[in-house]
Amino acid sequence: AAKKEGRRRARTFDPAMLLVLEQRELLRRSLRVALQHKEFFLEYQPLVDRCRTVTGFEALLRWRHPRLGVIPPIAFIPMAEADGLMSEIGQWVLEEACRAALNWPDHYTVAVNLSPAEFLTVGFTDRVSQTLDLVGFPAERLELEITETVLLERTTNNLDTLNTLNVLGIQISLDDFGTEYSSLSYLKNFPFDNIKIDKYFINDLLDDEKSQTIVRSIISLSHGLDMRVTAEGVETAEQASWLLAEGCDRLQGYFLSPPLHVDRLGSFIRHGKKARMGAAAGTTRAQ
Ligand code: C2E
Ligand code: MG
Ligand code: MG
Ligand code: MG
Repeated sequence: AAKKEGRRRARTFDPAMLLVLEQRELLRRSLRVALQHKEFFLEYQPLVDRCRTVTGFEALLRWRHPRLGVIPPIAFIPMAEADGLMSEIGQWVLEEACRAALNWPDHYTVAVNLSPAEFLTVGFTDRVSQTLDLVGFPAERLELEITETVLLERTTNNLDTLNTLNVLGIQISLDDFGTEYSSLSYLKNFPFDNIKIDKYFINDLLDDEKSQTIVRSIISLSHGLDMRVTAEGVETAEQASWLLAEGCDRLQGYFLSPPLHVDRLGSFIRHGKKARMGAAAGTTRAQ
């Protein structure tokens, strides 16, 4: 009963709420200086092709907060966007990821996620090509991932931006396909090289016929439009086999590897991939 009463009171005045707001404000302030303090770092998650060969890595941003520990992107990117910090952070991500990729086998690609704020920044494409020049990284090995929310605003400029990136030789991926607006007109009007099927459809793939039908349709739609398809969030060997049998071009997910700290990439690359896929299928990992 005391608990119930506490909850009822909480609705009118709750000191804990103030605390939450204060903490948010603190977080926001520490986000402002996180770049200077070098608190951001990237993890890299591998992708494999139809032959189960590693083709490259996706860079995923993390924030090592001095007191709170490692904070995942979903917990701070919206705040960074709202505060106008995401363009600068994104620039750091791009440069850092390209530099890291210089150490990989020279056919590996690196995928970098873009937030709408970055993509819509004036001069964004110039900055991308300047960064490639600065780092000495070939445009053909860079993949930029955007979500459909990016395309909702300022359509003609969006198209210009995507076309410019395309002319530079950069690969463009449509991330999280199927979860947001998924307007088919995007597929008709924008020059994507690759569609990433959201993990929402991969999760229950083997138990849900609707997910299977949707995934099959996305694969055939993409191929019909000359785009490759990547499935993200593949967690089991069974899902991987199903997806490859249906013609999916690339796979990414815990079945292969979680995102890795940069220090672990060297040994991951050397180890060879097929053994690892076997390990995910249920044999014991030799290590
Ligand atoms: P995303 O680009 O769709 O990345 C995939 C997310 O799924 C990553 O979460 C990854 O760790 C997670 N994941 C990978 N494999 C599996 C799996 O098998 N199962 C499950 N359940 N999850 C898996 P993460 O790293 O927390 O990133 C979340 C989102 O944050 C990303 O989604 C992306 O939209 C955004 N993000 C990450 N890094 C950046 C960045 O540098 N810039 C921008 N603008 N956004 C970023
Ligand atoms: Mg992504
Ligand atoms: Mg995604
Ligand atoms: Mg996502």
